[in-house]
Order: sequence, then structure tokens, then C-alpha cells
Amino acid sequence: MSNIWSNWSGFVSAEPKLIASPGDAGELGDLVRTAPGPVRVAGAGHSFTPLVKSQGTILSLERLEGLVSHDAETHRARVRAGTRLGPLMRILQGIGQGLPNMGDIDRQAIGGALGTATHGSGPTLGAYHTQLETVQIVDGLGKVRDFKRAGDQDMIHAMGVALGAFGVLTEVTLNNIATYRLRRRKYVLPITEMLRDFEAMMAAHRSAEFYYIPFSGYAQFIASDFSDAAPTARPPEEDEAGLRTLRRLRASLAWLPSL
Ligand SMILES: Cc1cc2nc3c(=O)[nH]c(=O)nc-3n(C[C@H](O)[C@H](O)[C@H](O)COP(=O)(O)OP(=O)(O)OC[C@H]3O[C@@H](n4cnc5c(N)ncnc54)[C@H](O)[C@@H]3O)c2cc1C
Repeated sequence: MSNIWSNWSGFVSAEPKLIASPGDAGELGDLVRTAPGPVRVAGAGHSFTPLVKSQGTILSLERLEGLVSHDAETHRARVRAGTRLGPLMRILQGIGQGLPNMGDIDRQAIGGALGTATHGSGPTLGAYHTQLETVQIVDGLGKVRDFKRAGDQDMIHAMGVALGAFGVLTEVTLNNIATYRLRRRKYVLPITEMLRDFEAMMAAHRSAEFYYIPFSGYAQFIASDFSDAAPTARPPEEDEAGLRTLRRLRASLAWLPSL
């Protein structure tokens, strides 16, 4: 039987001798000791580079997912490393917690997101690994090891963004915050103004980002800030209509060398 693995886009693929999905840390440890090498661990396969590719063994943590425990006072939650970010958000919401920040998508596994310093935007908000309080790993000898920030800070730092090189994360405790609402606003403005005011605009919001619309001379700026307001229906987005027009303009004029 052939074992084919590929990342999200199909751009990276592998045909390892073994693809295995251990059900617990003990089974994972046995595989690390006995499976044909090189052994690589896969999250959701949403990285762009061949980090997970192997001719030996690819370990999937899809069966190691879900909440282990939580602390309502400190807003800490211990979760299995194969938990995808989308389900993780819903689990956390159910216990009154939220991730302080998120990137553009929620498909990644928390183990993979930690492994590559996945981050959202916002000058005061860290990448996921800055939330780590404890980690449990299966090391290169197949042994289960536990580390906590108090006392093992170097190991927490080393395991935080390790590209899978220091062992397999099996469980992590995250420092979260209480659930919250965000108000998201979008603006279209000339790219010259965007670049001129970039630092002030970023500093004025909890989280913000912009996209340049090639050949148009315009950018879209997106800002998110805490809000106590009740949730509202999505408003009609005039900017979206404007953006569609600009994209059409760009597509039809893009062949002009001067643009
Ligand atoms: C459409 C798209 C949008 C994206 N948006 C953002 C964004 O907004 N911000 C951002 O920062 N990034 C973004 N990324 C990048 C993405 O977050 C990272 O590539 C992330 O690593 C993918 O997570 P994954 O679970 O798919 O990990 P994988 O790609 O499967 O693995 C990534 C690395 O982590 C290791 N790893 C996985 N699980 C474990 C584990 N349990 N223990 C130890 N190591 C492990 C792997 O061995 C590998 O080295 C985006 C990617 C895509 C495709």
C-alpha cells in the first residue's frame, strides 16, 4: 500500500515508508523509537516549505486533540497538540477563554502553529509560543517529558518555535484571556497615505494590517479593537464594492508595462 502525504496546497508531497496516527503519548513514544527514520511530525500541513516531508515516517497527531484541563481563575487551558485552531477557539469559548490573537486562518494544529511562530498582527501581541506555560513532549528517545515556565524557561523557549526539531509536542498549556468581542473596520486609502501614516495607524489599534492593491495606488487597511457593543449583523461593505472595482481595473490594465 502506498503512503502519500501532501501539504495543504499539494506543492509539497512525500511518499514515506510509514504514516502513523498514534492515540496517546505512549504509542507515540514507541513509534519514535521503532519507526523508520527520518521521523517528522505533521500538524495540519499548512506550512509552505518541506518541513514535514520525509522518506521515513510522518506522524500525524490528528487523534491527539481536545481539552485536557483548564483553570478559570488564570485563564489557562491545557490542550492536546493536535487540536486544530478552529475547534480550539470553540472549546475555549465554552470555558470563558479566548486566544489573545489569531492569524488569518484557523486550520492549523496548535502544535504546528507553535512550531513556526504563527502570529496575527498588532504591535503589542505576541505569536502563539509567547502564550506557553507548560509543554509536554515525546523526545527523540521516545520518552515523555514535561516542562513548565517556572523553572524550565529555557526549555519552554527552545520548544516554542522548534520546527519539530526538539521532539513532538503532545500537550501544551496556554495562557489565554477572558472571551472578548472585537470591532473590525476596513478602510480603502491611497497607498502614499498608508505608508506615510503606517506607524501611527498601527499604534492606534490593538491589531491592524494592510494590503496593497497592485497597480491601483490604493491600500486596504483593516483594524480590530476590543468592543463592549452587542454583536451586530455584518454591515453592507461599501469599501468591498470599491475594492472589487479597483481589482477589476487592475486586472484589465495590468498588461500595460508602465503600470
Ligand atoms: C492560507 C494560509 C494562511 C496562513 N496565515 C498565517 C498567518 O496569518 N500568520 C502566520 O504566522 N502564519 C500563517 N500561515 C502559516 C501557518 O500558520 C504555519 O505554516 C503553520 O506552521 C501551519 O500549521 P500546521 O499545523 O499546518 O503545521 P505543519 O505545516 O503541519 O507543521 C509545521 C511545523 O511544525 C512542526 N510540528 C507540527 N506539529 C508538531 C508537534 N505536535 N510537535 C512538534 N512540532 C510540530 C512540523 O514538524 C513542522 O516543522 C498561513 C498558512 C496558510 C496556508
